[in-house]
Amino acid sequence: MLKQHFALFGNPVSHSKSPLMHNLAFRALDLDACYGRYLLEDGTQLREKFLVLGLKGANVTVPHKEYAYRACDHLDPFAQKVGAVNTIVKREGELYGYNTDAPGFLRAISEFKSRKVLFLGAGGTAQATAAILAEEGYEVTILNRSAGRLEKFREQGFTCYTFETFKTEVFGLIINMTSAGLKDEMLPAPAEILEAVIPQAKACIDVIYGKKTPFLRLAKKYNKPTKDGTDMLLYQGAIAFEHFTDGEYCFDEVLPAMQRAFDFN
Ligand code: NDP
Repeated sequence: MLKQHFALFGNPVSHSKSPLMHNLAFRALDLDACYGRYLLEDGTQLREKFLVLGLKGANVTVPHKEYAYRACDHLDPFAQKVGAVNTIVKREGELYGYNTDAPGFLRAISEFKSRKVLFLGAGGTAQATAAILAEEGYEVTILNRSAGRLEKFREQGFTCYTFETFKTEVFGLIINMTSAGLKDEMLPAPAEILEAVIPQAKACIDVIYGKKTPFLRLAKKYNKPTKDGTDMLLYQGAIAFEHFTDGEYCFDEVLPAMQRAFDFN
């Protein structure tokens, strides 16, 4: 069989661990394949670039997941539901789209037994992950800085607050779904709100990976168990790999090789 090519599309892409994760897995499984990165500025060109590059599969990151959804000929039911695709596979000339972020996230938080969750943030990642948690019977409340993005969540039956309307309750898990703390030192919500909910929570989770965010540092101040976004990234990658190889390799076979990507700085 000819060497197979894969890529990550996004803007930016230089920071991503995905190429290393997938290339380590290809090597460990002795597959003749390679995975690169492609800085894509215009998301409308995603399908054309995918085809011109002769790819077998791709991952798609910020800000092109909705373009990826539109670029596919076939969508799996969950990608269809949330309107965002992060994994594309070509089969017989047609593009199949999947969302592996949400199942990866679900798996990453399954070690925590709490089912009552407060999401800080209402962006694309929150949208997909809230949907899968609701399907799995979690009770999800959304708190976001601005009101605009909350409408979609309200229509789907989630309880939603802005900082101004928030009413304190006891939440088992508090999860930072915002980009606050990624490139700055900001908290995802005002300190008064966080200091009212964190002490009563069982654990605090951040989807940002590779750094101790101000949110996780605050949680540590209250001696709460914390977890960053590393497992979410690994698990979405391992699920994507299952799609790339049409189920020939399973999650548990791929994961140990992908985990080695975090041994490199
Ligand atoms: P979006 O751009 O879709 O949404 C950003 C969200 O963050 C909005 O709710 C926005 O609020 C909020 N926000 C941004 N800055 C602040 C701030 N300073 N204070 C309070 N709220 C803020 O982003 P995504 O959903 O795509 O990504 C969110 C995070 O998830 C990113 O950090 C990303 O790196 C991470 N991520 C991690 C993955 C992993 O595998 N670990 C996978 C995918 C994403 P508003 O509506 O008011 O603007």
